Amino acid sequence: MKQNLIAEQRVMEEVTKAIAEGIDINPAKIKPESSLMKDLGAESLDFLDINYRLEQTFGIKMARRTVIDHMEELFGEESAIDSEGKLTEKAARVLAMRYDGYGDKISAGMDMDELPVMVTVSSIAEGVGNLLDTLPEKCTNCSAQSWKLEEETRTVCGSCGESAAFTSGDELIEDWLKQIQEDKKIF
Ligand SMILES: [Zn+2]
Repeated sequence: MKQNLIAEQRVMEEVTKAIAEGIDINPAKIKPESSLMKDLGAESLDFLDINYRLEQTFGIKMARRTVIDHMEELFGEESAIDSEGKLTEKAARVLAMRYDGYGDKISAGMDMDELPVMVTVSSIAEGVGNLLDTLPEKCTNCSAQSWKLEEETRTVCGSCGESAAFTSGDELIEDWLKQIQEDKKIF
C-alpha cells in the first residue's frame, strides 16, 4: 500500500519550481510534457542542480546513474549501448517498458545522445513519486509508525524526528531491472 504523504500535485509543483530555479527560467513556460533539453534549454549541469534541489526539498536521493548505466553494470558491457554508441534491441525493449508513452519514440539503433531529450517535467515528477512511494512502514530508527511532514515536503518520524529512509534512486533502478530480468529474461 502506498503511504506516501505527499500528493502528486504537490510533487509536480515542487518539480516545476526546482526546474525553474535550476535552469533559471520563468515557471510559466514549464509544462508537464516539456522536454528539459529540447523545450526548456537545460544543459547537463542543470540536471545536477535540479536533482540537488529535489533532494533537499523531499529528503530523497535521486539516481546518480542512468538506466543505461545500470543495464551495462548488471548485464555486461555493450548490453545497452553497442560499440558504435547505438541503443541495443534489448535496451530499447527495457526503456520502452520504463518510459510509458514513449514506446514509439524509442527504437534499437537510436543514438544514445537522443536519450536525454526524452526527460520531461512529468518523467521527473514520476521519478520523485516513485522514490516517495518507498517510504517504509516504520521508522528505521525507533520503529514508530507515525510519519509526519516538516516544511510540507520532508517526511520525518513523528516520534523520534528521524528523516524517513527512502530507497535511493540508483537502488530503485537496479531493483526494477533485476525484476524485469527475472520476469522477461531479456538479457
Ligand atoms: Zn522514529
